[in-house]
Amino acid sequence: MYRTHTCGELRITNQGTEVCLAGWVQRLRKLGGMTFIDLRDRYGITQLTIEEQAPADLRELADKLGREFVVQAKGKVVERSNKNPKIDTGEIEIAVLELKVLNAAQTPPFTIEDNTDGGEELRATYRYIDLRRNPLKRAIMLRHTMAQEVRSYLSGQHFLEIETPVLIKSTPEGARDFVVPSRMNLGQFYALPQSPQTFKQLLMVAGYDRYFQIVRCFRDEDLRADRQPEFTQIDCEMAFVERDDVLNAFEGLAKHLFKSVLCGYLRHSNHPRYNQPFPRISYADAMRYYGTDKPDIRFEMKICDLTSLAKGHGFPVFDSADYVGGICVKGAAEYTRKQLDELTEWVKRPQIGAKGLVYARLTPDGIKSSVDKFYTQEVLQQWAVRMEAMEGDLILILCGAEKKTQEALGDLRLEMGNRLGLRKKDDFAPLWVYDFPLLEWDDETQRFYAMHHPFTSPKPQDMDKFLSPKKEDLEQVCANAYDFVINGVEIGGGSIRIHDSAIQKRMFEVLGFSEAEADYRFGFIINAFTYGAPPHGGIAFGFDRWCTVFGGSESIRDYIAFPKNNSGRDMMLDAPSHIDAAQMKELGLASASER
Ligand code: ASP
Repeated sequence: MYRTHTCGELRITNQGTEVCLAGWVQRLRKLGGMTFIDLRDRYGITQLTIEEQAPADLRELADKLGREFVVQAKGKVVERSNKNPKIDTGEIEIAVLELKVLNAAQTPPFTIEDNTDGGEELRATYRYIDLRRNPLKRAIMLRHTMAQEVRSYLSGQHFLEIETPVLIKSTPEGARDFVVPSRMNLGQFYALPQSPQTFKQLLMVAGYDRYFQIVRCFRDEDLRADRQPEFTQIDCEMAFVERDDVLNAFEGLAKHLFKSVLCGYLRHSNHPRYNQPFPRISYADAMRYYGTDKPDIRFEMKICDLTSLAKGHGFPVFDSADYVGGICVKGAAEYTRKQLDELTEWVKRPQIGAKGLVYARLTPDGIKSSVDKFYTQEVLQQWAVRMEAMEGDLILILCGAEKKTQEALGDLRLEMGNRLGLRKKDDFAPLWVYDFPLLEWDDETQRFYAMHHPFTSPKPQDMDKFLSPKKEDLEQVCANAYDFVINGVEIGGGSIRIHDSAIQKRMFEVLGFSEAEADYRFGFIINAFTYGAPPHGGIAFGFDRWCTVFGGSESIRDYIAFPKNNSGRDMMLDAPSHIDAAQMKELGLASASER
């Protein structure tokens, strides 16, 4: 037996027991003639002590130990004279009687501390060492707890976990596919699933009316900080449902996770926001009030349309603008000229793209604005009333094309939220956003793209427009689609699906597929819809992201045991890599030299 206990287990009540521990040497200290060893495993740290009077061979062995050596120690649990309240085992130590080196270790390339000295790249290359650190251990454990809770909750709600294949035919979700050459069918390729979308719909046709899967998905897209080429979804589908049935079912899941994981496991206080029904707002309102389809509603500061009050007073910039809108920053009237100039520079950065910033301060001596020349106190007062601004507040205004300006105001809103500390780390504000546009026109390729994916149903009331040949009509069609958002992060998205083969065919037509093409790529699902497809809908949650948000972190990579870096590389494996000429040939691929 390698060990009787873990390094996180022993307490003062174990005093006097003979135990055997195994783990890694975290730290070695010599004090007088004593040697102290911090022995670490997944569960914690226990202090080992070797006395000055210990046998010489034991002391010699201890002298040879280095950081991260794997050792086994037998000894007696004794009360510490110098207790450490910071760790669970801090009241005891092990007086070592026998010590064995199970394996020596090279000096690790970085320190195994909460704040390590290792850079990103180095840590990625030695991921197995980085994973020994507490922050990553906590993240991986949180992920495990999340997965267990998802499974137990959904299974309790009669959802079946069903696996779907990884070698499939391309399913478009708007990204590029990763493909796998087939040796047995030379010249042909499988695609890795961007999601199990079509399979879960086929399961509905098959009658498995509640499905879920914690499943790996693959998308070959340009990477951003919160994206990985392979990532995990909690993928779900239900039959015989309308939108609100789906939202209610998964609001139930979300509430369960808030309760069990956030409040239970992470000991976060029980916040009223996630005990009450989650707010539900339309895409149009999300854009209007927050300038984004994933609003952070931990704080108010809604965008307010000032167009009708701002135009027609001789200020050329506003007069020529499509839209004028603003936000009211509570209690910020004290902002100095310097701070406002700096904010103006901030909104002018290319990422935000505003031409300038107009402000109005509500001071005890009236409203002081940067456009006083053009607006009387009465008009400025009207702005204040519309914005519900009071003395002490600061109004910030942008103008331009409607959507672009709303987006810029949305960014400014978040920035002000950050500056005023309104986006609190320990506050979680979930909400649903629904009624997205169905289609997006792309000028470059001169065609429509599905905003969500091609299996999303138009809203029934927009069906006429969906069947219309006119671009203007199609642009206005609303999708029966919804997103789940927490703190400004899109955590999930789904829709009620098309289940009628004629409508599915029409969708492919709208997306510019010829009938033959649609048939070649999607014949299987169009066909399935002719064999008794029930009405159905579902959702998929970004599992890695949800863990990241609950963990209060920015980095999705911390929550994936072996992630890829920003260029999609696995630094540890050094993948992707070349394959040899023989393997290329066998797969019917030309090697670089033959091309
Ligand atoms: N398959 C979709 C996605 O990956 C989710 C869904 O519609 O259920 O975004």
